[in-house]
Amino acid sequence: MKPQAGKNHSLRGASRTRFARVKNHSRFARVKGTHDTLPEAHAQWARIAAVAKQVLERAGAVQLTPPIFEYSEVFTKSVGESADLVVQKEMYTFVDAGARSLTLRPEFTAGVLRAFIEHGLHVRPSPIKLWSIGPVFRAEKPQRGRFRQFHQVNCELLGLDAPLLDAEAIALLYQIFSELGLRELVVKLGSVGDPKDRQAYNHYLREALTPLADRLSETSRERLRLNPMRVLDSKSAEDQAVVADLKRPLDFLGEAARVHFAQVQAYLSDWEIPFELEPNMVRGLDYYRRTAFEFHHGAIGAQSALCGGGRYDGLVEQLGGPPTPGVGWAFGLERLLDALQQEGALPTESARPLLYLIPMDEEAVGEVAKAALTLRRHGIVLHAYAPRNPGKGLKEADRAGAVLAALRGSREREQRAYQIKELASGAQFEVPEGELAAFLRHKARDNEANTLLR
Ligand code: AMP
Repeated sequence: MKPQAGKNHSLRGASRTRFARVKNHSRFARVKGTHDTLPEAHAQWARIAAVAKQVLERAGAVQLTPPIFEYSEVFTKSVGESADLVVQKEMYTFVDAGARSLTLRPEFTAGVLRAFIEHGLHVRPSPIKLWSIGPVFRAEKPQRGRFRQFHQVNCELLGLDAPLLDAEAIALLYQIFSELGLRELVVKLGSVGDPKDRQAYNHYLREALTPLADRLSETSRERLRLNPMRVLDSKSAEDQAVVADLKRPLDFLGEAARVHFAQVQAYLSDWEIPFELEPNMVRGLDYYRRTAFEFHHGAIGAQSALCGGGRYDGLVEQLGGPPTPGVGWAFGLERLLDALQQEGALPTESARPLLYLIPMDEEAVGEVAKAALTLRRHGIVLHAYAPRNPGKGLKEADRAGAVLAALRGSREREQRAYQIKELASGAQFEVPEGELAAFLRHKARDNEANTLLR
């Protein structure tokens, strides 16, 4: 892969603290377009993953994790020959020692459907909802919101062609984002029609755009050749000026696609999920049919799409499976975190230690370490690794954010007890060794709100 020269791709604004590259003298740096997820960001990822899991599994979804790489054909067969992934060689494809062409997944859908077919999951009650989380790889030009390794939460809803399933897919996404506290969401909804509608529209576009081709960007000229609809996707102002007066995909919907689309909208309106019609909605992959949607956020820069998805009836057959309609979506964790951060909707507190154990002599170092092993059943328990005087030990406990500190020295050993201090109130207790677990259990309950992530 040719590295991109020159540009500064560091994230702007508040994100900088999360992913900033600290100048150091190490010989190695991470590969451009990848990032390290630092401990603070992990707490936020965990929260997103937990909310997504809860919303999806309460709707009957089950988790499926395909491998990170697949035989290349799994992807080339599904994404379509006009997708940027193929045309612009954005897939990380390599030949292994056995001369097999393998590709790091550029998206989840193809691998999840391959697994669905390989394991005969279609025999399970329909619809089956499969969700996944993990890294995804695309050799795109790195910039804010566009990485070469990023992470997605993905969901496929399989087995029904009813518009109810499309609406449910969108509602689940909306619920995840809302529960995370995101407010400034714009849900854009469109339809790319049935294959014959797309064909008719592509034919119309080819006729209309061919005479204007010299006003189009090079990428759009290539798209005009392979899949004219993708010209609508161009971000270039010149291209947009050329297509501005042309008919839209929605003008070409056949009767069946139009009725289906109207029903999806009716459900969303009934469920009070606000959406905007996007007559130019075109997704980057060729497999979409009928409903297509994206959620955007205004404060995360040019790459404003938080998620994308749509219906892909026919794709399971294309991959060698039984006829199975389906609809799916994926959102990127990095862009979602950026959006949450811009809105100030990220938790700033992390989990607090319940107890900090302070050994006051050499013998107590081993004693507190041993006690910690069992006391951790009740919460986070940390300890000092060398003897401390009480003043220094308590300062450390405070800096660690602990709820309680426990001192252990020769006097406590004699008494078979710990001296405990509640750091917020200053209250002190002498707790016999045998009662320490019960004491902590009680305190953990009192402090639950403090010791768990918000
Ligand atoms: P797509 O399959 O391209 O619609 O991507 C679905 C979602 O994944 C997008 O809406 C983004 O949130 C995220 N995403 C896609 N490409 C990238 C990338 N290169 N870097 C970071 N996130 C991405």
